[in-house]
Amino acid sequence: MSGFNLLHLITSAKPVTLKPVGTVKPCGLPSGTCHSKKTWPKSFSQEELRKRLTPMQFHITQEKGTESAFTGEYVDSKEQGTYTCVVCGSLLFKSDTKFDSRSGWPSFSDLIMEGSVTATDDFSYGMHRVEVTCSQCGSHLGHLFDDGPKPTGKRYCINSASLGFQHKEPLPAPSLPDSVEGAGPGGATGGHTEL
Ligand SMILES: [Zn+2]
Repeated sequence: MSGFNLLHLITSAKPVTLKPVGTVKPCGLPSGTCHSKKTWPKSFSQEELRKRLTPMQFHITQEKGTESAFTGEYVDSKEQGTYTCVVCGSLLFKSDTKFDSRSGWPSFSDLIMEGSVTATDDFSYGMHRVEVTCSQCGSHLGHLFDDGPKPTGKRYCINSASLGFQHKEPLPAPSLPDSVEGAGPGGATGGHTEL
């Protein structure tokens, strides 16, 4: 091994001249937002998430983990409501589109809104699957398959640990006065201003 050649290379190398870039880092993004991975509209520090999430939720959403089949909190849930991203709270799926896929994971045939998740190719474990991540924060949710029920034919196979759940708005308390009866569909529920 020749130390001379190495030394020669170092000492004879011309100093690199950087173009004046002001506050913009070489990655082209403003200072402090330079990430090697895609950036998402919402971001959280790993430290905060480790405190806020359970170890299972952290592993699945941040490290692309998978919960064991039939172990998740929402596998058999038939409650009416909305499923959200456990990390950022974005609305993801409605209980109306949840169906029993017998896969062992909560399965949905459609999104609550186009674009609420991002689908990307996943070649891990020697398979080609489509990974589903939250479009707002990039958390791993699960995978998308094309063997779902009609009309979409899609099966969003999602880890329970990636999801939060908002119950459908509770029914009016039974102690309300009788006058609420007879309010037809579409009846205004806001305060009437006319006297
Ligand atoms: Zn999210």
